[in-house]
Amino acid sequence: MKSRRPRSQDKVLKLLKQQNSELSAQQVYMQLRGTDHPLGLATVYRALEGLKLSGTVQARLLANGETLYSLTQADRHHLTCVQCGNSIALQDEECPVHALEQQLQRSSQFQIYYHTLEFFGLCVPCQKQQNEPQPKAKMT
Ligand SMILES: [Zn+2]
Ligand SMILES: [Zn+2]
Repeated sequence: MKSRRPRSQDKVLKLLKQQNSELSAQQVYMQLRGTDHPLGLATVYRALEGLKLSGTVQARLLANGETLYSLTQADRHHLTCVQCGNSIALQDEECPVHALEQQLQRSSQFQIYYHTLEFFGLCVPCQKQQNEPQPKAKMT
């Protein structure tokens, strides 16, 4: 046996790696449905839960109650607009929390899998909407 991981988890993991983005359980299910060996939705949920418990995958709960899953290696942080709900991924490779994470792991002996860091506010289009009620006339 190469891996202790169940096949269903392998499949879900492979998909998350391929997509390189956050996916909901429903999206994972839909994507796998087109393959030779599709998984049932309940199996997808179980696989995601298993991957989460092993620290391979992290879950992010959106304001609308939907949970998005992504690989924990992808240390991605977001700017989330409270008005339109748009979520913009920060491309920052140097995460300031990493140093803190290592420090905490040493001091607390806690095995940290991942951390989350989110920023909430208004996106540019929503700011414009609030500040300028009239449509902007473009002068040339
Ligand atoms: Zn917005
Ligand atoms: Zn980070």
